[in-house]
Amino acid sequence: MFDPHLWRRQFPILERKVHGKPLVYLDNAATTQKPLAVLDAERYYFEHFNANIHRGVHALSQEASEAFEGAREKVRAFLGAAHVEEIIFTRGATEAINLVAQTWGRTHLEAGDEILISAMEHHANIVPWQMLCEMTGARLKVIPMDERGVLLMDQVDHLLTARTRLVGITLVSNALGTVNPVVEIIRKAHAAGARVLVDGAQAVAHVAVDMVALGCDFFVFSGHKLYGPTGIGVLYGKKDLLTAMPPYQGGGDMILQVTFEKTTYNQIPYKFEAGTPHISGAIGLGAAIDFVRSVGLENIAAHEDRLLQEATERAQRVNGLRIIGTAPGKASIFSFVLEGIHPHDIGTILDSEGVAIRSGHHCAMPVMDYFHLPATARASFALYNTLEEVESLFQAIERVQKLFL
Ligand code: PLP
Repeated sequence: MFDPHLWRRQFPILERKVHGKPLVYLDNAATTQKPLAVLDAERYYFEHFNANIHRGVHALSQEASEAFEGAREKVRAFLGAAHVEEIIFTRGATEAINLVAQTWGRTHLEAGDEILISAMEHHANIVPWQMLCEMTGARLKVIPMDERGVLLMDQVDHLLTARTRLVGITLVSNALGTVNPVVEIIRKAHAAGARVLVDGAQAVAHVAVDMVALGCDFFVFSGHKLYGPTGIGVLYGKKDLLTAMPPYQGGGDMILQVTFEKTTYNQIPYKFEAGTPHISGAIGLGAAIDFVRSVGLENIAAHEDRLLQEATERAQRVNGLRIIGTAPGKASIFSFVLEGIHPHDIGTILDSEGVAIRSGHHCAMPVMDYFHLPATARASFALYNTLEEVESLFQAIERVQKLFL
């Protein structure tokens, strides 16, 4: 039986108090807390073999290079990718999407081409494509959704045309929690001759993925939403695509030979990793993957589902509470509004009770526009949250309502 109380011991930050109250951390969709295994792995690196990688013949550099490349292999296995060189380290999901837009996108799109995204994308999966459209004259099109936050899949067939070059789709919506039918979208997109980028930023801590089975062309995620460090993320790309793509940034490590006349670029993945990377971050991400595997993604998902179910049932007893995002089978994101109370006020009062949630547009302004809302309040659950914390959330919500009566 999964017991979050046992796992909480691995997260020292959860012991702290905020405004004199025990911290109830429910902002996991923004970033997760880090277990001792991750903190220890980074500290061990700095205490024992901190050195720059790939360049030194000395022992520390070799040990650091081995640990960095070992982390790449852990990511490969975690994603079920066929080849380790298909794993590119980036600063995060955002940088990974920009990399694809600026390298693959600029060489494959021209005026009149189309990019198809969904109505519930994070700004990170909207703006890089808009920038690409400005540069190339391509058009951005959008798969609409209904008021539950479910994509209108019957529209996909006619939105995909012979001009669609790329479909960018989030696996899990950060604003609504919807888990999108990416398998079907990938199948339809490929049948239309388009490539597919899956934004896995919100998904990887909840849903097991397998690149070979999924068949997507690109997949991105950020370490910090998977109990790992900030500043490290991953771009997965199919080997033949990455090999054919031009580099993103120029500098050290991404070259084989440099003269003033001509530079030859390194093999993948190094071609896309110019400069000294976030070595400790990659090592920390490897430790986070080991940690998540030791807990078991299926245990995490089942536990978070239980918390979401409890919150959803508890919400029925709160007058004036409306849940935003009611897709069947959604992930553990509980977005809501309270009649007559601005989400920022909800967030501020909850904070005074020690309850950390997010209030705002969640970097998904088009989702807010769709629901005619300026913002929502969002509680998002992780493996260390408990049923008692769900109760604390609702007690704090009742306090908000009393203050505004
Ligand atoms: N995509 C989704 C669905 C997200 O939720 C986020 C972060 O909130 C991102 C992309 C961007 O991630 P990062 O800011 O770590 O690059």
